[in-house]
Amino acid sequence: MTERIYNFSAGPAALPLPVLEQAQQDLISLGDTGIGVLEHSHRSKAFLAVYEEAEALVRELASIPENYKVLFLQGGASSQFFMIPMNLLKKDQTADYLVTGSWSKKAVKEAKSFGNVNVACSSEDKNFSYIPEEVSLSENPAYVHFTSNNTIYGTEFATEPTVPAGVPLICDASSDIFSRPLDISKYGIVYAGAQKNLGPSGVTLVIIRDDLIEQGPTDIPTMLQYRTHSEAGSMYNTPPTFGIYVLGQVLRWLKEQGGLAAIQEKNQSKAGKLYGYLEQSKLFNATAAKQDRSLMNVTFVTGDADLDAQFIAKATAAGLDGLKGHRSVGGMRASIYNAFPEAGVDKLLEMMNQFEQEHA
Ligand code: PMP
Repeated sequence: MTERIYNFSAGPAALPLPVLEQAQQDLISLGDTGIGVLEHSHRSKAFLAVYEEAEALVRELASIPENYKVLFLQGGASSQFFMIPMNLLKKDQTADYLVTGSWSKKAVKEAKSFGNVNVACSSEDKNFSYIPEEVSLSENPAYVHFTSNNTIYGTEFATEPTVPAGVPLICDASSDIFSRPLDISKYGIVYAGAQKNLGPSGVTLVIIRDDLIEQGPTDIPTMLQYRTHSEAGSMYNTPPTFGIYVLGQVLRWLKEQGGLAAIQEKNQSKAGKLYGYLEQSKLFNATAAKQDRSLMNVTFVTGDADLDAQFIAKATAAGLDGLKGHRSVGGMRASIYNAFPEAGVDKLLEMMNQFEQEHA
């Protein structure tokens, strides 16, 4: 078998090896059913057990209160950009958006089709390299939306923004969900495409408070109403069965790691090593403001595009893949989600050190 290399991809991203090995077996026969996980009816007893375990693990790991539903939807996080305002924003209402990167901007664009948008803050003036401290909310927003981790720019909210009592806080947590403990009771909705911390692409986790499910109009397409999926337990139509299966396996693994508080410590240790090195490096610089640095996506540059390209080529040749930064930041981006091993971070540091000695 081909040896696995270190995959720094921003998403789809590295998955835990034990999960892949289990999936390999379950592709042929899920448990002793004689039918592979891809081939089971979503209504079969075997798949229902998979579904129930995945949901139970989401609930257990994030201590989700009773008055929230866990939905497994399709269409990616990007479909939540329109589904949220379609259900929760009326024409004469205003929704507040904290704009901290391209994904927040895309969410704003969709919301504008349904009602008014107040950009409560933006860090676009400095190419989204920081999280604004000042947030100016509108008088009576239908909800406040923010992106907890900015995958492209390597910034992350240290804590959730404060909103007035009664205003639902909505979070796109696609790139840092379950990387640290979170208090769901502070949120109206938390959603995430699975392909970074939870599993494969094709399934979107939506954790939504009951009262918001019922708020939406009933004259929009059935598939786009939260109540449809809530009432049917995400089985109104065929759900993304394989995605739900892998997500469940990833959460099993996460529980074995000690859960969210334990994985946060590991994430702090991994990112801490990289930022510690970047702070003293004479060649490489972190691009995100110190207090807002992401534990998931570490972005850095040499300041010279040719040198960046040389470094990436060297790293790739040494089995460190996916380090090229997004074109809007340039340089390098090391995406080190929950499943990314610390040994890969150490290998990257070794490469950076060596490259610095050669070029400083
Ligand atoms: N939000 C964030 C923060 C993301 O990083 C991404 C994708 N990388 C998206 C939304 C879009 O997710 P999807 O591709 O699942 O639509």
